Amino acid sequence: MTNQDLLGITREFGSPIYVYDASKMEFQYNRLTNAFKKVKKVKVNYAVKALSNVSVLKLLHSFGAGMDTVSIQEVKLALEAGVPPSMIIYTPNGVSLEEIERAVEMGVQINIDNLSILEQFGTKHPSIPVCIRINPHVMAGGNTNISVGHIDSKFGISIHQMPHIERIVKNTGMNINGIHMHTGSDILDIDVFLYASEILFEAATHFKDLEFLDFGSGFKVPYKEGDIETNIEEFGEKLSARFNEFCKSYGKELTLAFEPGKFLVSEAGQFLVKVNVVKQTTSTVFAQVDSGFNHLIRPMLYGSQHEIENISNPKGKERFYSVVGYICETDTFANNRRIGEIREGDILSFHNAGAYCFTMASNYNSRYRPAEVLWYQDKAHLIRKRETFDDLLRNQVSITL
Ligand SMILES: *Cc1c(COP(=O)(O)O)cnc(C)c1O
Repeated sequence: MTNQDLLGITREFGSPIYVYDASKMEFQYNRLTNAFKKVKKVKVNYAVKALSNVSVLKLLHSFGAGMDTVSIQEVKLALEAGVPPSMIIYTPNGVSLEEIERAVEMGVQINIDNLSILEQFGTKHPSIPVCIRINPHVMAGGNTNISVGHIDSKFGISIHQMPHIERIVKNTGMNINGIHMHTGSDILDIDVFLYASEILFEAATHFKDLEFLDFGSGFKVPYKEGDIETNIEEFGEKLSARFNEFCKSYGKELTLAFEPGKFLVSEAGQFLVKVNVVKQTTSTVFAQVDSGFNHLIRPMLYGSQHEIENISNPKGKERFYSVVGYICETDTFANNRRIGEIREGDILSFHNAGAYCFTMASNYNSRYRPAEVLWYQDKAHLIRKRETFDDLLRNQVSITL
């Protein structure tokens, strides 16, 4: 997919627009599975919340991926994409017993992350296999917004509550078929992950009928120059050896499962916007684009730094810009960023726009959410139409006054 292809897409479908490169997703999927080729049974469940377009789910499923879902609606999207229920795991947090029962009716694997629901579910449905999400209390990365395995996190059942988990399992006679952890979204250090894995292995010894161990995700991909990336090959080598050793001592060939979102789709995505206004002020040069945090909120929410490239002027002399949006709110995408000279009408591309970008988009300022295109087999396929005014009105009820 070249910059010329991208410019062609904005001419054909307009801007702002999200574009995803299918071959990059395939490349990442193969990298991950290759890293674990020494383990007999490996399951990659793609985290649907990263990018939930049905065509993207179909694509990832065509590579062999199952789906990791966090809401009943995501379960439905995965089913809509043709993924069989047996390849879907449902890992919600803080949902009602009723929603979990609905997931069971749909035939998906459930994952329970609190003692209250575990006890209620086990009492009512002792024969339905359940996975347990534990919190190993390992701090991944330094950002507490995206670190979910530490002591103050709301996710998972504390590893220190193992005696209580065992009491519930024994009293209800329920069947625990999997143990899960998801330590966060920012694993910089393989040793930290391996340390957390040891806690999972220890937890696993408390259950006799396990079928799988789910190590969640947290694989880091580079966003800006100089970022470290999880060395997936080294990680695969180390964890595979340890996993195989564990299976031997457990006395059974278990399945090793993962649920990557970002790793599979982040780098495959680009977000294309058009520059409406170039505004010189006393302190900076603003490039104002036809978007805002209504379309891409990660820079404002997490301070994420997405590379920005002026694809209309790739050879342009670099200058410093503040790239901002058009909504009535401070919506700064980047400050003091060196970008090839920007002219009004230029198309800018935000990199790493595959994960947690479109899925976090909103209609704030009554703007339409962008269109989405999948670049697949050298062709642009529109996979979501741009919204229209009817979409804004769809569920509104205009009363007679
Ligand atoms: C969000 C989430 C993931 C995916 O995390 P990434 O950082 O995108 O890979 C995996 N598992 C669970 C339970 C999640 O909530």
